[in-house]
Amino acid sequence: MLSASSSFPAPLEAAPAGSALRDQFGRTIDYLRVSLTDACNLRCVYCMPENARFLPRHQLLSDDELLRLLRLFAELGFRKVRFTGGEPTLRSSLVEIVRATAALPGVENIGLTTNGVLLSSLAEPLQRAGLHSVNISIDTLVPDRFGRITRCGRLDDVLAGVEAAGRAGLKVKINCVVCRGLNDGGDVLALARLTLAHDWQVRFIEEMPFRKSGRNEQLQPVPQAEMMAKLEREFGALQPLHGGRLEGEARVYQLSGARGSVGFISPVSNPFCGDCNRLRLTADGELRMCLLRDDEVQLRMPLRTGADDDTLRETIRGAVLHKPWGHGLPDHVHPSNRTMAQIGG
Ligand code: SAM
Ligand code: SF4
Repeated sequence: MLSASSSFPAPLEAAPAGSALRDQFGRTIDYLRVSLTDACNLRCVYCMPENARFLPRHQLLSDDELLRLLRLFAELGFRKVRFTGGEPTLRSSLVEIVRATAALPGVENIGLTTNGVLLSSLAEPLQRAGLHSVNISIDTLVPDRFGRITRCGRLDDVLAGVEAAGRAGLKVKINCVVCRGLNDGGDVLALARLTLAHDWQVRFIEEMPFRKSGRNEQLQPVPQAEMMAKLEREFGALQPLHGGRLEGEARVYQLSGARGSVGFISPVSNPFCGDCNRLRLTADGELRMCLLRDDEVQLRMPLRTGADDDTLRETIRGAVLHKPWGHGLPDHVHPSNRTMAQIGG
């Protein structure tokens, strides 16, 4: 729960529309992904080792620290916030955090990325608190394989979460990380088929190489072109949406006659760095400018040593300015200091 001291100083006026921060390459940076915890109730094979250990609570930003930072980001023109993790539904104050974020002037859109295990009872309270959309991770619709990929998950729990999200009126996207030999066969087709009957976007994500994830090196991403060819053989030509432009980080298409859409997030074979508009705040209060580069700017330390709002705002401005142009995967620069769950995917 938020403590009584959650009565933060009154926010400054939110930055007027159009005045969001720009980085040195002219990109508008107005989207913050916030990890609420590095802990998880699953252990997906591409994400973290089976024996993963999690941060002690005192190293995580408290609710008050987090909401103070969110207020500053909103004042600096950040319009979109996504809560993620680890597994954000493990944070007991999630609903209160969403409600307090929705009340910040300037915040226009709040999303959640979750494995869906605990979503069935949370979807409605989250929607009422101000959540707009939910991205739910499902890598296969085959229960046994789901159990093997997540090492301990039950597909039925997640499907109940998807249903609850739909009932609550949340916009639903399904995230599927496609790994060669693991779920690149009928799984991809079955997930895409969901879009025929449902108004969901099913997104196929290329697996990314986080050195610390302890992942089996044999896990390999499946390139977008190969996934698209597989879908077209089964369903016919894919129709590009948005004139082929990116929607967020996804390139979006529609199967013939579908209610929903399929998206491809292809940081490896088809990077979208030129359109990147985001920063990531880790659960332990580091600001990460690029998912796939290790450079970070400390926020927790200044927060806990008495930095005033002006100083914190300057730190955030500096981080935006020094956001790198793009990731270094083509030059074999791989992220090595954190897993995806420790960053906030
Ligand atoms: N626990 C939540 C979930 O699974 O949706 C949120 C955190 S998870 C780190 C966020 C997203 O990152 C998920 O869609 C997950 O599948 C994806 N992910 C994790 N490890 C990845 C990797 N190595 N490459 C690509 N995506 C990955
Ligand atoms: Fe947990 Fe999400 Fe990582 Fe799976 S992908 S282990 S659900 S944080």
